[in-house]
Amino acid sequence: MRIDVLTIFPGMFSGPLDESIIKRAREKGILEINLIDIRAFSQDKHRSVDDYPYGGGPGMVMRPEPIFLAVEACIPLGGSSPEIILLTPQGERFNQRLAGELAGQEHLILICGHYEGVDERVRQALVTREISIGDYVLTGGELPAMVIIDAIARLLPGVLGAPEGTAEDSFSWGLLEYPQYTRPRIFRGMEVPPVLLSGNHEEIRLWRRRQALKRTWQRRPDLLEVANLSQEDRRLLAEVVSEGDA
Ligand code: SAM
Repeated sequence: MRIDVLTIFPGMFSGPLDESIIKRAREKGILEINLIDIRAFSQDKHRSVDDYPYGGGPGMVMRPEPIFLAVEACIPLGGSSPEIILLTPQGERFNQRLAGELAGQEHLILICGHYEGVDERVRQALVTREISIGDYVLTGGELPAMVIIDAIARLLPGVLGAPEGTAEDSFSWGLLEYPQYTRPRIFRGMEVPPVLLSGNHEEIRLWRRRQALKRTWQRRPDLLEVANLSQEDRRLLAEVVSEGDA
């Protein structure tokens, strides 16, 4: 998969994209990430990328032409059309479902805004999608781009050592994940639930499902309203609720 990131601060990406799982995904050639400095596409002598807003008001607005030129330079001739994504707090809310959908694409272009945002014509005539990482305003689109790249990268085949783990991650199956334990069996008087040491796979499966339902009911009951629950889930959930397990 190829991701081109258009930014005026490419230096912000060194570190997050050069460590750990993403570093290995890039080294293996599963994920190609290109950092493109929007300023390199500015055609005025000061290499400016922003200007005052028409109509007045505070702050600066990113000019359209360096962004259009930078995006056009990323689109391969005769290739398939990339998804061109503007990071903006006004966009569709990013979540695990969207991460999965984007992980299925061959080529993404992420546009990081700054200042008061980008000239509206970037929205009108260039981008195919707008994405927000949450209902708060950051100084720029660089951190949102890193969040999105990270969430997508771990879903690409061959990136994680144990890919089946992502299927049970929180949100992937509509619920929060069950509690996880590792060694030692007793730590500061706190014991690992005995069922996890029983070797009985069916009991472990049921315990985990029940814990996932309980945790979701306690912390994110809104997820239960839309989760695709089986008969068994409904029975386990009824038990959790009737025991007042919250
Ligand atoms: N004035 C803009 C508005 O009210 O929509 C906010 C501009 S913000 C200070 C600057 C840039 O940060 C945006 O253009 C966008 O690229 C990025 N940004 C800020 N918050 C974001 C969020 N929650 N999700 C995605 N991008 C965000």
